[in-house]
Order: sequence, then C-alpha cells, then structure tokens
Amino acid sequence: MILKSIEEIGKIRESALVVSQTLGMLASEIKPGITSLFLDNLAETFILDNLCKPGFKGYNGFPNTLCISINEQVVHGIPNNNPLKDGDIVSIDCGVIKDGFYGDHAYTFKVGDVGKEAENLLKITKESLYIGIKSLIPGNNVGDIGNSIQNFISKHDYGIVKELVGHGLGRNLHEDPEIPNYGEKGKGALLKEGLVVAIEPMINLGTEKVNQLDDGWTIVTLDGKPSAHFEHNIAIIEGKPEILSTFKYIYEALGIESDEEDKFKSYFD
Ligand code: MG
Ligand code: MG
Repeated sequence: MILKSIEEIGKIRESALVVSQTLGMLASEIKPGITSLFLDNLAETFILDNLCKPGFKGYNGFPNTLCISINEQVVHGIPNNNPLKDGDIVSIDCGVIKDGFYGDHAYTFKVGDVGKEAENLLKITKESLYIGIKSLIPGNNVGDIGNSIQNFISKHDYGIVKELVGHGLGRNLHEDPEIPNYGEKGKGALLKEGLVVAIEPMINLGTEKVNQLDDGWTIVTLDGKPSAHFEHNIAIIEGKPEILSTFKYIYEALGIESDEEDKFKSYFD
C-alpha cells in the first residue's frame, strides 16, 4: 500500500479532473447512431489537447483510450464501429496520466429511453458506489467497503461481479490494495490516511457470473442481461474520504440536477 502526500494527492486530483471533463465532454455526444470508436477518438483528442496521455491505451496491450461496454458488456469493451441504439446503456471507463499520476473513473450513460429495469440498475449501482466510499475511513478495513456495498446490493436482486475489483491508484493504474465489491467487516488491509483508491462497483441485472470474449478483453454477463459500472477516485484526507473525481460535468452536459456530491460532502461535516 503506497500512501500519498498531499502534493501527490493534488496531482492525482488534477489527473482525475481531466477524466471527469472527458466524460462530461462525451456525455453530450452519446446518442443513437454514433459509434463507440467515434467517442474514443473524441476522448483521445481531448486528453492530448489537455497535455495529458490516455492511461489505458497500450496498458497490457489495450488498443484504445476508452473502455466502452454496452448492455451485457460489464467492463473492458473495445471501441468499435457499431452504432449505438436507443435503449442501450453505455459504460465508459476512462484513464488519464498527467504529470506521472493516473486518474481512472467511469460512468454508465443511457441512450434515449432505457426502460425501468435498466434505469433502476443504474440508480442502485451509483448509490452503492457512494455507500462504499463512506466506509473509506482510517481504522476501517478494505472488507468494510465491500461489505457495505454488498449489504446494500443484497436488498435488490442483482449480481455483484466478483472477478473484477477496485484498486489503489497513483503512479500506477493498479496499486494495492485490491478493493472487492463484497467482503467481511474488519477483514483485509487497514485503511490509512493518504491512501488513494478507485472504488468501482460492477452490478448485473441478473446473474453475477461473467465471461470473457475471445477478444481477450471484453467481460460480459453470462445470462446476457445488462450490467452497470460507476467509479470514483477517492483519497483519505484528514480522517475522511474526499472524492477527487466528479460527475458534475456529465450532469451539466445532460441538464441533470444532482446534489449527490454535495450530500456526500456534508455527510462527513
Ligand atoms: Mg476505470
Ligand atoms: Mg479502475
């Protein structure tokens, strides 16, 4: 576990900000008929224009700037030339390197009307992210984070993806500790001041079971039902979790009124 100084956390915050702005820029472009490869090109240009580097491109050989995972695709989808359709849900995960530090977060977007079931899946998955983050306090253990997510999700009939997890974040995209979206209270590494992590619940409408496609990347649900993914970057500063990323650019682009980030801040005041 690599703990960060306030200066280092500041650099991760800057990198996370560029990811947040990239996702905000993409939000107004997502509509039926456009392709995930088009979104990928926009994101790459935007990141380079901001004098940053895409964090995922070339990482373990990943070919693109964004992971774009549609409907039954959970994460690690490779952008392609298939047009988006009305009713799709589109998870976009974006990584950036700025000044040697990574930002890495994700949001699941709606294309037009996605119907009640998917709507609810998105709402609950995002809520579970904030619930997980509330457990990120010094003295808690990694297991407390997953436990809080699991307890919340268990009230709904959803599947928690177990094979993929959140992680520490810094000069490396993936650092210790791994942060599963399930777990036992009091188990796992002790959380400490200066820890920076990505928490990222991946929640399936149906079975928790997943499969990897032959492309060597794309993770899909075994039953073909949709999956949602939300991710924030968070640092432990002065005994509480501070979210370094923001969805506010997405909400601005989409005209959504949301007080979720303010509510989260005031929870710890
Ligand atoms: Mg990510
Ligand atoms: Mg991540």
